Amino acid sequence: MLRTLIRHKLQSYRIPLSQPDNTLPEKLSQPRSVAVIGGGIAGMSAAANLAERGFEVHLYEKERYLGGKIGSWEFQSHGQTLRTEHGFHGFFRQYYNLREFLHKIGADRHLIPIDDYTILYDKNKKQGFRNLAKTPLLNILSLRRYGMLDWKTFVHPRSLPFVHLLAYHPQRTFQKFDGESFASFAARTGMNRYMRLVFNSFARAFFAEPEDMSMAELIKSFHFYFLSNEDGLIYDVLDSDFQYSFISYVEKFLYKYNAVVYYATPVETIATASDHVIVNGRRYDYAVLCTDVKHTKRLVENSPELKRHPLLYRQLSALKHSGRYAVLRLWTDRFEADKSLPFFVFTDRLKCLDSVTLYHKMERESEAWSRENQGGIFELHSYALPHDLTDDSEIQACLLRELYHYFPELEGMKILHTYFQHRDDFPGFHVNQYAGRPTVKTEAPRLFLAGDWVKMDNCTMLMEAAYTSGALAANYIMTDEGLRENALWSVPLKGIFA
Ligand SMILES: Cc1cc2nc3c(=O)[nH]c(=O)nc-3n(C[C@H](O)[C@H](O)[C@H](O)COP(=O)(O)OP(=O)(O)OC[C@H]3O[C@@H](n4cnc5c(N)ncnc54)[C@H](O)[C@@H]3O)c2cc1C
Repeated sequence: MLRTLIRHKLQSYRIPLSQPDNTLPEKLSQPRSVAVIGGGIAGMSAAANLAERGFEVHLYEKERYLGGKIGSWEFQSHGQTLRTEHGFHGFFRQYYNLREFLHKIGADRHLIPIDDYTILYDKNKKQGFRNLAKTPLLNILSLRRYGMLDWKTFVHPRSLPFVHLLAYHPQRTFQKFDGESFASFAARTGMNRYMRLVFNSFARAFFAEPEDMSMAELIKSFHFYFLSNEDGLIYDVLDSDFQYSFISYVEKFLYKYNAVVYYATPVETIATASDHVIVNGRRYDYAVLCTDVKHTKRLVENSPELKRHPLLYRQLSALKHSGRYAVLRLWTDRFEADKSLPFFVFTDRLKCLDSVTLYHKMERESEAWSRENQGGIFELHSYALPHDLTDDSEIQACLLRELYHYFPELEGMKILHTYFQHRDDFPGFHVNQYAGRPTVKTEAPRLFLAGDWVKMDNCTMLMEAAYTSGALAANYIMTDEGLRENALWSVPLKGIFA
């Protein structure tokens, strides 16, 4: 009964974001060209959605491969050719639009479920959430079973702000909490250690230290990932390298619809007019800018003509990227002792290590390497490197030290190959950023924005935000051309008590 009521109140967990008008044509009847700048998920989304409708699409990517943060590439180590990726990614079940796309292009056959959402803490303790209730609200109450909530949480006056977790509202939450950091909220509400562990794992998904992370963004993420759907915290991963399980399917789809991909071709300048956009000196009817925050700022600095749109220029120039993060992949001669661990585990960070991925259990190519070499492939992430840890070799040493803390059986292992990334190109979901963030539709009538950093009315984040924003940009262009827009979906826009 309660479950049905909650489901009803939360609109069966899925609401339409667009209202396609079936009387409108699907395909273009006159030639129209679009430049899509940046070939991450947002760019692939805009390009695929528009090419399918008959637009002449040119997709520009500065790297030799598509995918952006889900890209994968080859490298040489000790005479061997190996592949690596930007980092482990989880595909949650409420990624409605991205998953529909994976289904459309045939890549969903590569999705496999992770056994559990697991956090390692202290030296030998682990906390899984497989048996957590799935219905929103009841799942919060069932956190009591894990020692993460007690009745005091509900009666202590300091704890009243917890109610806001259940009352996500697209405007009010940001008005109230975008100026407060997660660290300050946790201190003010006396959040217990285990609950902090769970929230930290959410905050880290946004590459921010608790002192920087906007509490409003965290409430939004709690709504999106935990309180707006019945899918629980269990998600899926791709069973093979991203190039083979995702990007090659997108490439095939783009070629089928005659899109042209310019690899290793950075866009250096953009200029806009009322009826066209100039990209790298070439004229297009429309452009969708799908670059990451850091490179967007560079492109804007290089494109003074964008000053004709003062609000857009100001918003893009003020974008903030995350602090530094690190991804270290190791090819080793040992395995972890606890065979029951899922592919991916969060760790309660000592100084730098936030998560460990066991690639040899998850990805076909890694499994094959592991069988052949009788060793493991581990990927270590630090989502927000401490300020005093800047040197590459010190970062790697710190990550390894903490790996041995949680996996003492690996100490003394032989490391056969490594691939290390030290980057800062994630969007900053920091305090006081939301109000100034630009939207998909801009002041420039022919220029649209897409990416995980672009503000949208619906509640969505990370890969789903990247995909949805690209598809929304495509919908705006189709509407301008009198075409039927594509159907898009969202979790409910508001929390149960909003
Ligand atoms: C380590 C790590 C783990 C993650 N884990 C998860 C996860 O588990 N689940 C999840 O949902 N999300 C996760 N994310 C986030 C997710 O990767 C991103 O939200 C998403 O991929 C962003 O896609 P995008 O298209 O917006 O941007 P990007 O992937 O950054 O794409 C931008 C593209 O623009 C290109 N570009 C930049 N400048 C130019 C230029 N001038 N000309 C041409 N091209 C240019 C770049 O090369 C890049 O290909 C993770 C991210 C990282 C880094």
